[in-house]
Amino acid sequence: LSLVVQKYGGTSVGDVDKIKNVARRVVETKKRIDHVVVVVSALGDTTNNLVSLAAQISKTPPEREMDMLLSTGEQVSMALLAIALNELGQDAISMTGQQVEILTDTGHTRAKIRHIGADRVVQELRKGRVVVVAGFQGVTSEGEITTLGRGGSDTTAVALAAELHADSCEIYTDVDGVFTADPRVVPQARKLDEVSYMEMLEMAATGALVLQSRSVEYGRNYGVPLHVRSSFHQGEGTWVKSEDDIMEKAIISAVTHDFSESKVTVVGVPDRPGVAARLFGALAEANVNVDMIIQNVSEHARTDISFTVATDNLTKVRKVAGDIGEAVGAEGVNFDADIAKISLIGAGMRSHPGIAAGMFQTLADNDINIEMISTSPIKISCVVRGADGERAVQTLHDHFGLSD
Ligand code: ASP
Ligand code: MG
Repeated sequence: LSLVVQKYGGTSVGDVDKIKNVARRVVETKKRIDHVVVVVSALGDTTNNLVSLAAQISKTPPEREMDMLLSTGEQVSMALLAIALNELGQDAISMTGQQVEILTDTGHTRAKIRHIGADRVVQELRKGRVVVVAGFQGVTSEGEITTLGRGGSDTTAVALAAELHADSCEIYTDVDGVFTADPRVVPQARKLDEVSYMEMLEMAATGALVLQSRSVEYGRNYGVPLHVRSSFHQGEGTWVKSEDDIMEKAIISAVTHDFSESKVTVVGVPDRPGVAARLFGALAEANVNVDMIIQNVSEHARTDISFTVATDNLTKVRKVAGDIGEAVGAEGVNFDADIAKISLIGAGMRSHPGIAAGMFQTLADNDINIEMISTSPIKISCVVRGADGERAVQTLHDHFGLSD
């Protein structure tokens, strides 16, 4: 039997007409495919609006209550879609994360899925129903509602697809697929027909917002092919799949950018064992993800440590880095929110030397200063001034010939 999981993002279910549209699309799918599971995000800007309501009341709302609040968004869209499907004569039932049994850890607002008990979904599918599942939410073994982090509906969909051994997972969105760069920054950016899980993971981790990173990890770990495509037309989007199945192997696949990070520099820390461990241990303790890290060569037994974090976490980081800085006898701590991280991604750079040099030269030719560099086997990231960010993306996209 064929089985597909479809995920519709917030813009695809932005209003009643769009929900009816999605319902028609699901009915069409059900004619071709035996079993259809649909995962939905909250309507349009719902989640942002809920976040802002809480922010008007408290700077530090309890995370448990944030999950109670945010999980309501998806409950609205799942019910409306199930109503729309029934209206079209398609038997359908909606289910919350708890009803499906999407069990997570207790990390409120960024919970990780531990286990999915999809028995009830399977039973409903066998009755010929379309099952509509609320994305982004789960439940702990204690029965507490959790959410999976912003963009988490993608992860709900791919995790369910893995659990149900779906033939594929279709991610419907308001763009045509995954692009060589953000088309709002690079108008000549090209839609990729296919991209490997590894490349997509790096893209998601460096600022491409189409897929939540964790959903790509699920896809890779369980070999679920992902199809990122538009909910507004029938055209093919981008397939995310295993590198071995990629037909046309490009050296460079994309240039991404991320303006959402800030740089923190702990200045003049004593150069002795344990300082970095203490600093990053405290940040981990405070649940702050650290991205790039650079430690300078020490002079006079003192050194600078710079790292980047999500600007959203800056309030927490100020406190933690300030405290630790003082405790270890650092000379000071600087914070800089005006940075951009620009990354070049491509599986082919493993076997083609000189890509990094080409990137640095292109930035130099355009008078763009590099402040931090980090690499993985298939990615090079540079931190530059925020004001240079878009120009850096454009010139790199051009230099590496990604338009044609
Ligand atoms: N509604 C949630 C968010 O806006 C989850 C999602 O859309 O994937 O982050
Ligand atoms: Mg999304």
